[in-house]
Amino acid sequence: MLVRNEQFAHDYAPVALAPPTAQTVVVACLDHRVDPAIVLALQLGEAPVIRNAGGRVTQAVIDDIAFLAYLAEQVFGVQDTLFEVAIIHHTQCGTGFLTDPGFRQQAAAATGVNEAVLEASAVADPHTTVKADVERLLTSPLLSPKVSVSGHVYDIATGRVITTVDARYPQ
Ligand SMILES: [Zn+2]
Repeated sequence: MLVRNEQFAHDYAPVALAPPTAQTVVVACLDHRVDPAIVLALQLGEAPVIRNAGGRVTQAVIDDIAFLAYLAEQVFGVQDTLFEVAIIHHTQCGTGFLTDPGFRQQAAAATGVNEAVLEASAVADPHTTVKADVERLLTSPLLSPKVSVSGHVYDIATGRVITTVDARYPQ
C-alpha cells in the first residue's frame, strides 16, 4: 500500500478545503467490497464519506452531518441548499448476522459492545433499513432544513446502485 501511495503522490495536486463539489455526503457500510470512492468513482474534494457497520444512521453520523452543514453554511457561506446525504445500504451485508439473537448475544459478550448497539447496526434487508434510516435522519432535530436525504441500495452481485428513496428535505 505504501508503494501504491508513492505512485499516487507522484502525480498529486492538493485540493483546497471547500464544500464538496458534488454537493453530496455519502453514508455507507465499512465493508471493503463497497468502497464508495470506487463504486461511485469519487474524486478528491467531491463528497465526504461517512462509514460504519451497515452504513446506519447512528447518533454519531447525525452529529457529523450537523457539523458538515454548519461548515458549509457558516464557514464557506453556501446559500440555499447545502448538500444531499446519500445513504447507501448493500446486499450481503455482514451485519445481517446480528439479526440472529443468539449470535448477537455471543458477539456482545465477547466484545463488550452493547447488544442494543449491535442490533441497531444490523442490515438484513437493505431496502427496508435504508428507508428507516432516511426517515431517522429526516426527523432528527439536528438536521439542517437545507440538507436533503436520499436512500440507495448497492447490489454486491451486479455492482449497481439503485435509488429506493428519492431525495427530499425535512418537513
Ligand atoms: Zn455491510
